[in-house]
Amino acid sequence: MFDLSNKIALITGGNGGIGLGIAEGYLQFGASVIIVGRNEKKNQDSKEYLTKKFPQSKVSTYICDVTDKESVDKLFDEIYKDYKLIDILVNNAGINIRSTEPQELSYEDWSLVVSTNLSSMHIMSSKVIEGMKKNGSGKIINIGSMLSIFGSSYGSAYAASKGGVVQYTKSCADAWSKDNIQVNAILPGWIVTEMTEKFRTTYPERHSLITPRTPAGRWGKPNDLSGTAIFLASEASQFVSGVSIPVDGGYSVR
Ligand code: NAP
Repeated sequence: MFDLSNKIALITGGNGGIGLGIAEGYLQFGASVIIVGRNEKKNQDSKEYLTKKFPQSKVSTYICDVTDKESVDKLFDEIYKDYKLIDILVNNAGINIRSTEPQELSYEDWSLVVSTNLSSMHIMSSKVIEGMKKNGSGKIINIGSMLSIFGSSYGSAYAASKGGVVQYTKSCADAWSKDNIQVNAILPGWIVTEMTEKFRTTYPERHSLITPRTPAGRWGKPNDLSGTAIFLASEASQFVSGVSIPVDGGYSVR
């Protein structure tokens, strides 16, 4: 039921953090994995790491900026030379640019956050959907956040974009469930990655509040997201559509 053999999974931002954790989970369950990121070195390192760990599996990496439609068009020209179809798309690439209050965030920074975290989902999903429809199946998994639920004085663009992820997910699920394509979101809690490392150093006092506020009493690891990502990519979730699942050690229940 959770088997992903013969499935091709594309993970944006799969070269580190949560995306890399999801890639490991998919490889463990038999999928081939395509990693998309901007940084060539991170792409190469992640490919080396994954290939060593799963020597029987196919791992490919591609350079692409998911905010740039032309870059994404070129990406798919390349991908479709090597692969017929994407079975599973994980829209995971994301950034955060923080400010003390919303009005202090420049319009350029606002736009970059929204286009990376939200508009990219539309660009990427639009590129895979026809293939999925023709194939009669597909899975799209969008990565939201605790700030899909909560507001943030210092992360206004991030929260706005991540709130949008929930509504975009529902809209796509509404459109494509009839084609046997399930679109769902994962809302990670506080996970130790490069992104939150910056948060720890910039806002140490806020960082120190997270563990005591989390019922599980700890930060998450990238691999903590894998189980839910496997579920949402597999036949086990065939009748699950348009939901946003918090994977947060209970953070959002308080
Ligand atoms: P991360 O380690 O900083 O990873 C972010 C990934 O996104 C990197 O692989 C990066 O690759 C890629 N990326 C960023 N901008 C891109 C662009 N324009 N085009 C292509 N790739 C791009 O952060 P993470 O914590 O794993 O975050 C992954 C996702 O989880 C994000 O959507 C984030 O918002 C979400 N999330 C994280 C947490 C957390 O606590 N860590 C909590 C909730 C939600 P390159 O550097 O190669 O571009």
